[in-house]
Amino acid sequence: MDYNKLAELLYPNVQHDMQYYLNVYPARKLPAGAEVTRLGPSPTGYLHIGHLYSAMISRITATKTHGVFYLRLEDTDQKRYIPGAGDVAYDMLCYYGVKPDEGYRGDNLEQIGEYGDYVQSHRTEIYQTFAKELVKRGRAFPCFCGANDSKEDILERREKELSESETITEHDEHCRNLSFEQIKANIEAGKPWALKLLSTGDPEKQHDFVDLIKGKRVIRENGKDIVLVKSNGIPPYALAHVVDDTLMGTTIVVRGEEWYPSVAAHIETFLALGLKPPKYAHTPVISKLDDGNKRKLSKRKDPEADVRFYIEQGYPKEAVKEYVLNLLNSDFEMWRNQNPLSDIAEFPFSIKKIGSNNPMFDFEKLNNISKNIISRWPAERVFAEIYAWAEKFDGKYANLLQNNKETMIKMLSIDRGGDRPRKDIFAWSMVKDLYDYIFNDIAPATIDERINKNSAKDFLKEYIEKYDHKLDKQAWFDQIKQIALGHNFADNKEYKANPSAYAGNVADACNLVRVAVTGKTATPDLCSIMQLLGKDKVKNRLQNMINSL
Ligand code: GLU
Repeated sequence: MDYNKLAELLYPNVQHDMQYYLNVYPARKLPAGAEVTRLGPSPTGYLHIGHLYSAMISRITATKTHGVFYLRLEDTDQKRYIPGAGDVAYDMLCYYGVKPDEGYRGDNLEQIGEYGDYVQSHRTEIYQTFAKELVKRGRAFPCFCGANDSKEDILERREKELSESETITEHDEHCRNLSFEQIKANIEAGKPWALKLLSTGDPEKQHDFVDLIKGKRVIRENGKDIVLVKSNGIPPYALAHVVDDTLMGTTIVVRGEEWYPSVAAHIETFLALGLKPPKYAHTPVISKLDDGNKRKLSKRKDPEADVRFYIEQGYPKEAVKEYVLNLLNSDFEMWRNQNPLSDIAEFPFSIKKIGSNNPMFDFEKLNNISKNIISRWPAERVFAEIYAWAEKFDGKYANLLQNNKETMIKMLSIDRGGDRPRKDIFAWSMVKDLYDYIFNDIAPATIDERINKNSAKDFLKEYIEKYDHKLDKQAWFDQIKQIALGHNFADNKEYKANPSAYAGNVADACNLVRVAVTGKTATPDLCSIMQLLGKDKVKNRLQNMINSL
């Protein structure tokens, strides 16, 4: 077969050759050891926490080596395209502090960088040039079987065929051996075709492969004639990634584990073009326990898969980033314990230390990280963050905060600072309910069922009578204690045996006051809250509780 003739038949309109583009995209001038990394999200869904995970590895690696991290929009699947998803991807990377140095910046902003266009749907001609090169080299062939397209394409075609004829055409995989004349006849007859790699690999044979995360592995050679260009003339990921990562000078491809089974086919495609494959780092898949079974975090089922979820819930970005680093690097937790106040940028991150086991998503861990971070911030900063969140997601609450800024800052200041700061907030969305007693009237809460209601009532009556709003913390506590000792809330033996030595009674008394005044069983320092509420509110609430018992 004369492959040049075949290449002309298949791609008569492709004017340039591969070398032309290799010249247009010269090697980057970067210091020795600099790594070029990228994120290539597809706008078929919103940015996933797994993308953030890859982006953080890519960003840190590029920064540490004085290289470049860029963003490429991989939008070759036009059928599943979600308008705006590309903008969200760029915005989210910026929001989480993993801003790309160059590339795509959203649909309405100019791209940055010399290695563009960074949107794959704008690069069809370049891909076709590389496809033509493969045909010229005898390493690709047109396939007319129709089984080359994506699953969605096949299903759609089948449905159409069934609705028209009630039978499905059986396709025959024989296109590898078609003669030039047969191909020409098919093309002249207008038959759709896809371009496939003519694989020379033998899956029976194995070769070494070094993955930067998984380490040294032995993998099978590729034997599949993978689709390089679909019948609509657009390449799927396999060819697009080979072309783009070559021209854009990527040195490390950081991507999800789901691509690992295809790596042999991708390497064969690079080699078939005479190009050097980049280094690969396949990241483990973030998983979760679902009914006791471990499964991949799913965009459809798990709201926490979408990075916007954390913004809506009001997790500080610092917490989300720190949590992702925790998932990534097993050494992180130890480092954090030794350096509780250091910025995460100081963490000595290394790709090699990423575990190859799939990490489990764990809200408790995220919440604890978040609580720790927030507990170290001054009240003014916490207020500003809550307010900014409310402005976006709860306008009414934002107004309330604006009108009561001083009170709220005082509330947030309680138990803040010092060695053991208060850790009750992990997300801004919880603050409204957590401190509702500051601004709203509260319904009398039910008291612990262990507590004898009549004794509770007697205690509260005595307390309200003697209540002195001017007492400081110690005197406030002494007073409750003193009154409590004359009452037995829990009808228990220890109390009867020695009322003045029974400490549980004082705790019960404090909790009674707490529930009466705040409606909650756990709050920051109660005496400070009562000071903040003012004498009248405190007395009213105590009275309401007495009335309800
Ligand atoms: N478009 C691919 C995805 O979203 C990117 C894979 C890669 O990073 O190479 O999964």
